[in-house]
This record gives sequence, C-alpha cells and structure tokens, in this order.
Amino acid sequence: MTSKPHSGSMLGLGAMGGALAQAVLDAGRTVTVWNRTPGRAAELVSQGASEAATAGEALLAGGPVFVCLFDHASVHQTLDPLAESLRGRAVVNLTTTTPAEARELAGWAQRHGIAYLDGAIMATPPMIGGPGSHILYSGSRSVFDEHRQILDLWATSTHEGDDAGLASLFDLAILAGMYPLFAGFLHGAAMVQSAGIEAAEFAERAAPFLSAMTASFPGTAATVDGATYETPLQSLDWTRTALETIARASRELDVDPVPIDMVTALVRGEIDAGHGAEDFNRIIEQLRPRA
Ligand code: NDP
Repeated sequence: MTSKPHSGSMLGLGAMGGALAQAVLDAGRTVTVWNRTPGRAAELVSQGASEAATAGEALLAGGPVFVCLFDHASVHQTLDPLAESLRGRAVVNLTTTTPAEARELAGWAQRHGIAYLDGAIMATPPMIGGPGSHILYSGSRSVFDEHRQILDLWATSTHEGDDAGLASLFDLAILAGMYPLFAGFLHGAAMVQSAGIEAAEFAERAAPFLSAMTASFPGTAATVDGATYETPLQSLDWTRTALETIARASRELDVDPVPIDMVTALVRGEIDAGHGAEDFNRIIEQLRPRA
C-alpha cells in the first residue's frame, strides 16, 4: 500500500483556506488542518485531512506551514506564540496584507529563522484549482521552488521577486483598478435601469467594449512610463466635457454620478494646474506621491 504524500499544514479554514485544503485533497495528497473555531474541518477530515486541535499541534505534522487567515493581525496572533517551533520551517502566508505588512512579517520571520514566502491570491474560492486562478508570490525563492508542486495545485503560480511585499503590491494595485471598473459598470447599469432595461441586457453591450478598452493598457502604460503627455489621444479638456456630459445625463435620470465625479476631480486637478491640452493619462500625476 502506498501512503499519500503529505502537504504540511493549513492554518485557517475560512472560505479560502478551506478551498486550498480541498484542492490538496483532490490531488490525492493529505494535509493537516487547523481552524480557530472548531467544527469547520469535518468535510475535509471525511476526505482524509487530519485535524489538529491547536495551531501548535498542526505544526507537528511537519512540512510547509500554509496560513490563510483573516488579516495581518490574525496572522501575528496565531504565529507569534509559535515562533520557536517554526524555526527552520517554511511559512507560506496567503492572507491578504499590505506590502508593508508583508515586509514586516518577512522581517519577523527572518529574526526567528523562518523561511517566509508571501502569497497574494488572484481568485475566488470556487476558482481555486481551476482555470483563471493565479497566485502571486514574493519572498523566499527557495520556499517557492521547493513547494511548487503544492502551489501549482491551486493556481498558476508566479514568483515576483525576493521582496516579500511585491506579491501584495501587485495584488492590491490590480484590485485598485477592478473596484472602480465595477463601480463604473454598476453606475451604467443604474442609468439604463431608469429606462426599464435590465442589467443583464446592459452587460451584453458593456462587456465587449470594456474588454476591448483594457487591451489599450499597454499604450496607456507607455504614455505614463515615458511621461509623454504632449500629443494626446484624448486631451484633459476634451475628457472633462465627456465626463460632465455623463454626469449631467446621470442627474437627469436621478442617478448619483459619484463614480464619474471621482474621475472628473482628477481631470480638473490637472486642468487647474495648466495641463488641459495634454493627455488624459496625465491624471496619474494627481495620484503619485508629490515631490
Ligand atoms: P473568512 O472570513 O472566510 O475566514 C477567515 C479565517 O480567518 C477563518 O478561518 C477565521 O477563523 C480566521 N481568523 C479570523 N481571525 C482570526 C484570529 N484572530 N486568529 C485566528 N484565526 C482567525 O475569509 P477567507 O477565507 O475568504 O479569506 C482568508 C484570506 O484569503 C483573507 O486574507 C482574504 O483577503 C484572502 N482572500 C480571499 C478571497 C475570497 O474571495 N474569499 C480572495 C483572495 C484572497 P474562525 O472560523 O475561527 O473565525
């Protein structure tokens, strides 16, 4: 009889930690699981996972320690008391943190002789183990290489660099684009709903156009990287008129134009600084740290 390969410990069985543990089991491996509140492991245990009563007990299983908890504070609350037991071990933290928090954890790990890899999950729990799931990693390259087989069960895995904050930086920067995009889509949906048109019908029209627009990001990036705003595709002055028209139409429909007003404020900032004839992408100058 061949025993199943063991994949270390998973600390945290929320929606995401549970999905990660499930993918390990689905691949014919075993894993030791722990959750602060008991009772969340039954389904995993019925499929071969071992449940530990405490986080410290979960470490006794050996192998890498995967952490998927609520936030940075909960990671410290869980790992701090275990620092000495973790010495010489590999910790892969998949909890969402800021870049500074990830770097702080990497420093904490280094002080305790722990090899630290930070992970940023670009997926929802049902996507784990399926197409389109991507997890960014940064920090210890050797932990990434050594445990790649497990990481690849969850998603496409990429190592972004030795700086532990990079995975989180890319993750949160991408999400910074996603939320305003969705807010803008919902703003549009509210506008058409005022004419009795369902959001589903609106989505059929909006999705192809918005997808096509994201294909222009490399051009936007080239403008921004080169700070070449002088020959605009669409000037700030032109864009302000367009934005104000959208806002006026929204108010006519009794729809709050707040997502568009946010963009208009950035555009006005650059116009007020005397750059109205330059490219729209110049609004990044409103966002960057000022010298
Ligand atoms: P859940 O809210 O479903 O689960 C949170 C987990 O953290 C639970 O296991 C909870 O335990 C535990 N926890 C909370 N506070 C503490 C604490 N002080 N000490 C110990 N354990 C604690 O969240 P998710 O599983 O969805 O998310 C986990 C991480 O994954 C988050 O950082 C999230 O940002 C990230 N993520 C989630 C995505 C998603 O779509 N869900 C997408 C991408 C990343 P208990 O059961 O005892 O409350």
